[in-house]
Formats: sequence, C-alpha cells, structure tokens
Amino acid sequence: MTGDIERVSITIDIDKDGVQHGHLGVPHSSDESAWGAVRVPVACVKNGEGPTVLFTAGNHGDEYEGQLAVHKLVRELAADPGRLQGRVIAMPALNAPAVTAGKRTSPIDGGNMNRSFPGDRFGTVTKMIADFVYRHLLPAADAVVDIHSGGRTLSFLPFAAIHNLPDPDHHAASLAAMKAFGAPYGVIMTELDSAGMFDTAVEEMGKIFVTTELAGGGTVSAETIAIADRGVRNMLKHFGMLEGALDRPHGTRFLDMPEGGVHVADDPGLFEIAADLGQEVTAGEVLARIYPLHRTDLPAQEIRAKIDGVVLQRHFPGLIKVGDCLTILAQDMAEN
Ligand code: ZN
Repeated sequence: MTGDIERVSITIDIDKDGVQHGHLGVPHSSDESAWGAVRVPVACVKNGEGPTVLFTAGNHGDEYEGQLAVHKLVRELAADPGRLQGRVIAMPALNAPAVTAGKRTSPIDGGNMNRSFPGDRFGTVTKMIADFVYRHLLPAADAVVDIHSGGRTLSFLPFAAIHNLPDPDHHAASLAAMKAFGAPYGVIMTELDSAGMFDTAVEEMGKIFVTTELAGGGTVSAETIAIADRGVRNMLKHFGMLEGALDRPHGTRFLDMPEGGVHVADDPGLFEIAADLGQEVTAGEVLARIYPLHRTDLPAQEIRAKIDGVVLQRHFPGLIKVGDCLTILAQDMAEN
C-alpha cells in the first residue's frame, strides 16, 4: 500500500459555508457485512469568518452528557446558522461502535479511543477514526472540547479540566477557556500516562483543549445535562462565535488531584461507600468498606483516607474487583 491511500471517507466539506450533516465512512469488512462500513456522524455549521471549535463526545461510548449536548447544539445552530460567527465541527459519537454498544471501548476491536491517537490509517476501526480526525479535522480547529463523564464504572463531581502545559501562553489560553465552560468544579490535571490520548494529540498541535468529567454511572441527570449544555454554549461565547454573556450560575471551585488521593482496591467484594461525592474528609477517615462475598467470619476491609480532601470520584457499581479505583480525593487549589 502507498502512503497516499485514504481508507476513511467523509460526506461533508468542512470548508463550505452553511449547515451540513454527514458522516465518516470507515471500511469494516465483517462476517455480518462483507463490504460494510462503520459510520461516524459529523456535522459542520459554518458562517463567515471566525474561529473553529471541534466538539467531540462519545470518545467513550457509555458517557452521555456530551453526546446529548453535542446533538442538541447541532440542532440549535442548524436552525439558525446566522447566529454563529465561525465554524463548529461536531462529532457526538466519536467512537461510534462503542456508542452503539453503550460501552467504553469499541466492541469491534476493543479500541479505547482515548488511547488510540494519533491513530493509524491502516490500523483497526478505532485507529482509523483517530487517524482521520488527527490528520483532517484537528488541523482545522482552533480549540477542541471533548466531553467525558465517568461512564458505567465511575462517577465524578462535575468538572471541566485542562492539563498543565509547558508553554505559558498556551496554558493561559486553555485555562481561560476551561473557566469559561463554567462547570461547578475546575481541575488542572497531570496525567500519569498521557500516551495515545486525544488530549495529548490536540495539545501537541498547540491547540486549546478543554475536557470534562460530568458525573457518570452510565446515565445522566438534569443537573449534569444543564452543565454540559451551558458549557458548550459558553465555549462559543468565549471564542466570540455566539453573542451574549457567559452563563455561569455558580462559581467554579478549583481542585488539584494529588497522587496520594487515589485509593485502589486490594481485595474484591461488596462495596459499601462511606463518603459521598463532594463530602469533605480528613486523613484516616473511613471512605469505604469492602465485604468478602462468601464469608461471614471475615471482617470488612476498611479503606481510609490517605489525605484530607473532598471526594472527587467514586467507583460506581456495587461490586469491587482487585485494582479498581475506589475513590479519589482532591484538594483546593489556589486559583491561577
Ligand atoms: Zn471518558
């Protein structure tokens, strides 16, 4: 094969003015469909000159606030594209097979989209999607907003986040965008393992990248949907693409995630949570207990807070496996 072959196709032209609804076509020959293709929805609304924001959701298929918010935003902009100054590219189901399955990763190839960048045009379906986005859509974008939640196995306090970035101007512009999103909590993250992340791919191109974790458990609430809806519109107002003041009904509390705040299960069993999301705890306090499933004579294992902090994340299902991330404590950060 030569390096020029494009395997993934796109049905819209992102350089054209107006409203376009289409999809990526990703070849996938299977027992069920020999000449089949996976479709990844993509919409573009462009009006005049202005910045380009790429909104993505369904990076993980079982996280729903973002999928809903992007679907709703496209419909709203499409109804009145003259309100927009610039260009919105919207992908509500970035890992479409995972979205269809309601799972974090793709049932086709097991691909975790957020570990698949910069992608591979001759790789699996997940890698091909990542490669197309990386080579054809990211270069066109000034900013990327990738909306995550906890999915079926985690739940979070609703926060918007950026990473610590080495270039001060890049960091400041990203921080300003994260603040504008207007989530109740804001986190500046340092990833332990950033290889393959969409975040890293975007940041290395020098673009602004804002992500979120908005609750989880594989479902949504009216409150978290409202945070996502306000956030995507606030992004467009922040970049001067929609008129109007930012809609931030509450302040943002800035939190840090120190390494000592992560609590991981050493034993399997029944999960008794003792400190809910948002609860303030002190070091030594019991966060959770894990009961062995089949023994009544053994004591529950107590999970005690390693640091003072606020409960930022919790494991969601009632059963625990060894190595599950049980709860993360965060601490207040001086606003910067
Ligand atoms: Zn996610």
